[in-house]
Amino acid sequence: MNFPSIVFEDVSGYDFSKHNKKHVTEDFVSENFKELGWNVYRPFNDTGIDLIIIKRCCPRGHEQIDESANNEVCSQCGNDLVHIKRFIQVKTREIKGKSNSSQFFGYTLKSKDFRTDPRHVFLLYSDYTNDFLIIPMYEYLKIFYENKELGKSHFGTPSFRKGNNKLNSLRKHPNGQWVWKSRNNARGISFDKFVNKNGLKLMSNPDYDINVQKYAEQISEMKLHLFYTYSHGRQFNKELEKEINNYLSNKVKDNIESISSIRSETRKKLRKELSSELIDSIENGYLVKFEGVSFYD
Ligand SMILES: [Zn+2]
Repeated sequence: MNFPSIVFEDVSGYDFSKHNKKHVTEDFVSENFKELGWNVYRPFNDTGIDLIIIKRCCPRGHEQIDESANNEVCSQCGNDLVHIKRFIQVKTREIKGKSNSSQFFGYTLKSKDFRTDPRHVFLLYSDYTNDFLIIPMYEYLKIFYENKELGKSHFGTPSFRKGNNKLNSLRKHPNGQWVWKSRNNARGISFDKFVNKNGLKLMSNPDYDINVQKYAEQISEMKLHLFYTYSHGRQFNKELEKEINNYLSNKVKDNIESISSIRSETRKKLRKELSSELIDSIENGYLVKFEGVSFYD
C-alpha cells in the first residue's frame, strides 16, 4: 500500500498558486482517505477544521474490515466495531532549504487550533516531498509537555498568544527522517512515528473514541501547563521569569474555582430575572452550542 498515493496523476504541485492551492490539496488529502475506506465530509463554513473523516474499526486493531458487508462486528474477532471520527486541520507547505542538507517545514498554529478533544488531528502536508505528517492532538501536546524547553519555545512566547508565531523547527533530513530541532535541543526529536503510514496508524487508534473523556482531561491538563508558561525574552532575566510564572500559575488556580462559581451564580440570577419565553429562546437557540450548559436543571 502506498500512502499517500498520487491520486491526481496528471497534476503537479507546481501548477498551483497560493489562491487555489488550499482546495486542491484538501481534495488530495480527502481522496487519499476515501481510497482507504474512510467517509469524508467537508465543513462548508470555515471552522478551522478542513475535513471530518469517519470509519468503522475493530477495537483490537484487525484491519480487514469488509466495508460492503455493513457488519457491525469484526469478522476476525467478533468484537463490536467502533465508529471512529477525526477532525482534521490541514496545513500544506512547501519544504524550504537546499535538498542536500536538512530542509524545514514552516507553519503556524494558534491557541484556538488546540481543541480539547483527542479526535482532532493536525495533518501537515509537505507537497513537494509528498509526505503526510499526521499528528493527533494528544500526541502533539505530549511531545512539548514532556520536553519542557521545547514546550517553552513553542507555546511560552507572547507571540503564540498574539502574533503569527511561525514554527520553523520541523525538518526533513536528506536521509528522509523527520525531526523537530531547535536551539534547545540539538539532537532533535524524531517525528517519524507521524509520517505517512505510521501517522495513519497512530491516528486510527480507536482508544481516542472509546476513552474520549479521559484523553480530553489529559489534553486540558497539558494545555494548562504549556499555554500559561511565560518564557523570557532578552530584556528579562531568569529570576523575573520565575516570578511571573508563579504569579500566572496562582492566577490560573484561583480563577478555575471562581469561574465555575461565577457561572452558576450568573445562571441563577438570569433564571430569576428573565421571562420564561426569553429563557426558552436562549436555551433552544444560543445555548445549543455549549454542550452541558443549560438554564433547566
Ligand atoms: Zn477484530
